[in-house]
Amino acid sequence: MRIPKAISDLIDSFQKLPGIGPKTAQRLSFYLLHVPQSELDSFSQNISVLKKNTVICSVCKNVTESDPCPVCLDPQRDQSTIMVVEQPIDTIAFERSGKYNGIYHVLHGVINPLENIGPDEIFIKDLLDRLKEQESKNFQEIILATNPTMEGDATAMYIAEKIKNLSAGNQNSRIKVSRLGMGIPTGADLEYADDITLKEAIVGRREI
Ligand SMILES: [Zn+2]
Repeated sequence: MRIPKAISDLIDSFQKLPGIGPKTAQRLSFYLLHVPQSELDSFSQNISVLKKNTVICSVCKNVTESDPCPVCLDPQRDQSTIMVVEQPIDTIAFERSGKYNGIYHVLHGVINPLENIGPDEIFIKDLLDRLKEQESKNFQEIILATNPTMEGDATAMYIAEKIKNLSAGNQNSRIKVSRLGMGIPTGADLEYADDITLKEAIVGRREI
């Protein structure tokens, strides 16, 4: 028996998503046959506008509806502290924890030689460029909140080194560099950390 093309095409699409294997892709596709057409239309519409209706903030590289994003423009937030994270989804975790009131810098990845991702492939240079405005912006602290994986740690070390080199040329504007504290299991994703763990990680951050 041949699966109708409309269904096999949808199965192929689902299978391209992370964490979805062939069986789940099949189940989801056949499930959608039972969903009313109006819901399917709105589902496909949501996917269709996902990228069209979002932009990357030119300052912090987070995903947003307007550029610069509301966090970068918010005078209530501590504009002198930057939390460096791997992915936009990580900022959602920290926002939800309610424990962080600074601003962000989103790298959109980590340095990973095995996957040919070097420092130039992610937004590290943009972070350093931000810090070069130190005279006018007066940044106090950079919190390196990459995931506690081998790649996340290596990326944090790389950035810390670069910031130190940057500060070395300017004695008056030394920027404190810290790494998130313990509590998040090694190898884990920040995205899945609960609020209390995240709060403890922020409070327990250590200078490097
Ligand atoms: Zn921003």
